[in-house]
Amino acid sequence: MSYILVVDDSPTIRTSVEFTIKEFGFPIKQAENGAEALDTINEFKGKGEDLALVVIDVNMPVMDGISFLKEFKKTDRFTPVLILTTESEGAKIKEGKDAGAAGWMIKPFKPENLKDVVMKLIQ
Ligand SMILES: [Mg+2]
Repeated sequence: MSYILVVDDSPTIRTSVEFTIKEFGFPIKQAENGAEALDTINEFKGKGEDLALVVIDVNMPVMDGISFLKEFKKTDRFTPVLILTTESEGAKIKEGKDAGAAGWMIKPFKPENLKDVVMKLIQ
């Protein structure tokens, strides 16, 4: 079964995102920055595990969410990437959309809103 990857430098956020979307039944993996996310994706691609969705923060050390998105989209144009961030500046959102983000949600999130968006993206 394909998995969902949750990427945030805050363990608390990763845990709360995982808790919110676990009812969809997808295995969930976590990474704490964009670079670790790319490593995780490559590792599991090698094992034949498909990626259903990435939920990713913008502001993280090592590699931020927008840089991740630009890198990721070079090899995977179709798997949706949902940005989940405190960042609400229009220019940042446009940069994310231009880089191929499937959606942009502002933290703190309402669980119902996150579930709605995730449900649409994994269909
Ligand atoms: Mg952050």
